[in-house]
Amino acid sequence: MLDLKQVTVNYGNFSAVQQAEISVEKGEIVVLLGANGAGKSTTFQAISGLVKPSEGEILFKGNQISGKSPDKIVQMGIVQCAEDRKLFPQMSVEQNLIMGAYVHRKNRKLIKQTLREVYDLFPILYDKRGEFAGSLSGGQQQMLAIGRALMAKPDLMLLDEPSIGLAPLIVEQMFESIQHINKEGTTILLAEQNANAALSIADKGYVYENGRIVVEGKSEELFANEEVRKAYVGA
Ligand code: ATP
Repeated sequence: MLDLKQVTVNYGNFSAVQQAEISVEKGEIVVLLGANGAGKSTTFQAISGLVKPSEGEILFKGNQISGKSPDKIVQMGIVQCAEDRKLFPQMSVEQNLIMGAYVHRKNRKLIKQTLREVYDLFPILYDKRGEFAGSLSGGQQQMLAIGRALMAKPDLMLLDEPSIGLAPLIVEQMFESIQHINKEGTTILLAEQNANAALSIADKGYVYENGRIVVEGKSEELFANEEVRKAYVGA
């Protein structure tokens, strides 16, 4: 579904991602692991059209998307859920969700149906649908960010650090929801520092170090890899 071929992203003289080779098959959950600043978010921004790679190709369903506008990329079926969530705090929960459906703005029936699906997945958002997004807890805001991304009905969802700043119990629920979304048919590319939780739901992963992918493999292989365990999973 998604193939990155030798993708390099430079910010001036600094190379944030170097020659990334990533492949995501339809139906998979794939995780990008790595420390802060290793290049995961930059990879996401390149996929969603927010930065242009200096080299390489990004193919989505066989079409070159590198260089296309972020808007066009959303229309093609890729939606990013950013690390800082980018909600509209002074708008209600429901208004935030509806904003996520702007690519389908002419199809009110679809919006209504998708809204129902999102509320089924996160019932707390239904209970709080009239409240300001800014009044929600961290976990609820993360649910809202994911719910808003789902409103676009993406084929591929990019989730940047969904567990950031959340309590362990909430992290567990968040990963269960991600698994559920995947089972319902959305392919997922996830960036995480919480390797344990991420590998437990992912099919495979890529480990970044200083902008380069240094290890890749199935989740079981990464779990079993001594170096990866030491650096990212914990003893
Ligand atoms: P994080 O979890 O902190 O977002 P990351 O693995 O996603 O980490 P990136 O955000 O992709 O890492 O950052 C990779 C490198 O690129 C870092 O050294 C960062 O400082 C640098 N960088 C990111 N955005 C820019 C920018 N707009 N201009 C210059 N350098 C940048």
